[in-house]
Amino acid sequence: MLWSILDITIQKEMQEKLEIQATTDYLTELYNRRYFTCRLEEEVSKIKCYKNTTSSLMIFDLDKFKQINDALGHLMGDFVLKEFANILKKNLRKTDIAARIGGEEFAMILANTDIVNASILANRIKENVSNQIINIDGKSVNVTVSIGLTALSYDDINSDCTFARADDALYTAKANGRNRVEQK
Ligand code: GH3
Ligand code: MG
Ligand code: MG
Repeated sequence: MLWSILDITIQKEMQEKLEIQATTDYLTELYNRRYFTCRLEEEVSKIKCYKNTTSSLMIFDLDKFKQINDALGHLMGDFVLKEFANILKKNLRKTDIAARIGGEEFAMILANTDIVNASILANRIKENVSNQIINIDGKSVNVTVSIGLTALSYDDINSDCTFARADDALYTAKANGRNRVEQK
């Protein structure tokens, strides 16, 4: 009896560990792209059902990150990515979903948040990032981030449409000089 209880407990723990591994980005411990995409799909479906709710999507891309890697090396570049993730974590509310969706690309779903409030948060994160001096091996590094922002719309066929709009806003942020927030 005792052995089977222990066995079930170990199995449950292993299953939980595997679930965390399957949904988490190993470097930053934010969610990974796969989990994020599922949650975004869910959120888009929710907006279609409850037309008077608004949620927002933000995409982040660190500026000139290649130069950071070139100057400091890939390992230190990873450290910078972790520091950026920590800034995101500090700005997260319980209902927000933040993920690392690519090398130096991150995204956040802000449930029940309109674009005005999402923009306030995006600008705060942008400022937090540009104001932070990261000290590595006696060197000081300063990074900036460009942010694309959009509201989820019940006209969106699926999450790809929402994502493409935020990505377009991000592209504009880069084209307009980086270290800025643009919305579409
Ligand atoms: P931009 O302002 O246009 O975004 O310039 P960028 O240099 O950030 O853009 P680009 O997409 O050309 O380069 C991204 C770089 O991010 C290239 C790659 O070396 C680096 N990178 C991608 N994944 C990782 C990672 O996991 N760790 C580290 N350290 N660097 C990564
Ligand atoms: Mg990039
Ligand atoms: Mg970049």
